[in-house]
Amino acid sequence: MTTRCYEMRKGQKLVCKDCGFELVVEKECDKHCKEDGCCATEGFMCCGAPMALV
Ligand SMILES: [Zn+2]
Ligand SMILES: [Zn+2]
Repeated sequence: MTTRCYEMRKGQKLVCKDCGFELVVEKECDKHCKEDGCCATEGFMCCGAPMALV
């Protein structure tokens, strides 16, 4: 499962199960990425794998 910026809500967290790195959403995306398709990515990567949403 990949995670895109416009799908994340404030307070949600992405974690890397490999190295323990964590990212917490402080401000949500304004959703313009969804229409523009500018964030059609493989997800937020760390240690060569997509980070998991928790
Ligand atoms: Zn965005
Ligand atoms: Zn990592």
